[in-house]
This record gives sequence, structure tokens and C-alpha cells, in this order.
Amino acid sequence: MENLLALTLADETPDASEGEGPSFGWRWLGSGILELTPFEASEQSLVLSTGIHGNETAPVEIVDLLLRTLYRGDITLRCRVLVVLGNPPALAQDKRFLVSDINRMFGGRWAQFPDSEETRRAQWLENVVEAFFSSAGENRWHLDLHTAIRASYHVRFGVLPQRTRPWDDDFLTWLGDAGLEALVFHQSPGGTFTHFTCEKFGALSCTLELGKALPFGHNDLARFAITHRALQALLSGSAPEHNAETVERYQVVQQITRQSEAFLLHMAAHTLNFTPFRQGFLLAEDGEKRYEVHKTTEYVLFPNPSVAFGLRAGLMLEKIT
Ligand code: ZN
Repeated sequence: MENLLALTLADETPDASEGEGPSFGWRWLGSGILELTPFEASEQSLVLSTGIHGNETAPVEIVDLLLRTLYRGDITLRCRVLVVLGNPPALAQDKRFLVSDINRMFGGRWAQFPDSEETRRAQWLENVVEAFFSSAGENRWHLDLHTAIRASYHVRFGVLPQRTRPWDDDFLTWLGDAGLEALVFHQSPGGTFTHFTCEKFGALSCTLELGKALPFGHNDLARFAITHRALQALLSGSAPEHNAETVERYQVVQQITRQSEAFLLHMAAHTLNFTPFRQGFLLAEDGEKRYEVHKTTEYVLFPNPSVAFGLRAGLMLEKIT
């Protein structure tokens, strides 16, 4: 089962659906889903998901390498893990999604999208994660690994869902040690996988954006080495090497939503993530609706004028550190 990625891309069913690795038992729960239970009892449960967007392949390759390391016995597994390859048909075609973006559908929002393989996948992933966390202790993490569509002032950064309880300092420190240069805190709910696990199961959840997306085989995995090492440490129950770099913190202050054909985003096509805009700047127009910068400086994240109606065309942030 160390070849989960190859099996998933080929849409094959394994000969056996459960077995044992050197330090853990494993169960294959369906396409792209593998549950690992360490022989040594552990308080920590980790959902490690990637490939929710099918063209974001570098972190999928990292998870594939981590599984091989575990199956070879090079490291001993010391936490429960649910490995999730999010959207197998999109991964096989190197597309972000085929019909609709799965990472807008969680928390039952799939019901509002036209029925497709992806709406059914989102619903099923919710059930699989619920079953995984139902036998978990208090220490619940969810790391959802992505790569960004565009270049960015911060090469690697994390996006954290709205959370009513305070964030755990050890978790935020770990994210910095995994090489994230910035953390973005959402202030309102959303349809992301990480919002779902944080809200529903109280997990410490983060969407990790690890650089620019390239097709399978074209990724320079050396650029992801710091994150790879931190994940390997996490799986083996040890602390990662500490990264002394300052992690910038931002919070979301407004969302730009495309509502109609008239939508215009007033920034260049290749605007980098975290590009600053001054107070009063007209960011976007949608018929009568105007989006302006309200704070002294706001930074843009994920600008994308061509999303479906009703979906996010960009987020505006303010620095909180
Ligand atoms: Zn993504």
C-alpha cells in the first residue's frame, strides 16, 4: 500500500484492503484514502490531505514519499493518520477540478452545487473524516497541503479557518517550523476542508500553500524540503528543527465575490499574492457594487476574476503583527 498514489491515479482497487506495515496497521478505505494506526497507542490524530485541487501535485508527491518512508520502516509511526488524496479524477488529468471546486463544498455546501462526482466525493470525504475523528483523542490536527496558482511575496504560507477557541501555540509554532512565512486567519466561515474539520471536530486545521503548482514530475521537491522534514518529524512523534524566521500574521478583512457577468477585477493578471494596496484604491466592481481598500493598507490573496458566480474572486488582508 506504499503505492497509494499510483493505485489511485490508475483507479485500481488493491488486492488487500488492510494489513500491517513495520510500525502500524493500515486500512484502505476507498480511492485515495488510507488510515494508518500506530502499534504504539497515540493521543494524536492527523488528517493529512492533499490533491483536493488536482493540479497541485508537489505536496501529493511529498505525501507519497512519506508513505514510502513509513512502509520501508525508515521512521516509526507515532500518531494516527488519515491520508487523503482529495480529488483522484482531477489528479489523473492534472486539472484543478473537473466540474466544481471541492474546496468550496464542505460543511454540506455540496448540496448547493450541480450534482457531480466532486459533490459526491465531498460528501463522502466528510463521512470518512467524521469516522476517523470519532475514535480520536483531544489532540486533532488537519493539514491540507496545496500549492498556490500564482507567485507570492510569501513563498509558503498557511490559511487558518475561523475558530471560536484560541489557536494552540504549539500548532502555530509547528507551522512556522514547517517553513510557512505567513499565517492568514479567516474571520468568517467557508466551504473549505479545513473549515469543516475545525468547526465540526475542533481540529487544529490549516491549509498550507507551498509554492507554485506544476505537473507531476516537474516539481523541484528541494523547494519543499523544510515542510517535508517537519511532516516526517510529526509522523514520528518528534519536534521539527526550529525555524527562527518571523512568521507574519494577517487577518481577512474583506472578501471580493464575483456575482455577475459585469464583474471587473482592477489588478494586473499576474498580481502576486500579498501585494499591498493603499486606502481608497478601487479593487473591483460588479455592476453597482464597488470594492475599495478601507484600511490604511490591505494585501490581496488569491485574486481570480474568472471564478463561478457567487464564489470568491479574492480576499483582502490586514497585517496583525
Ligand atoms: Zn489548492
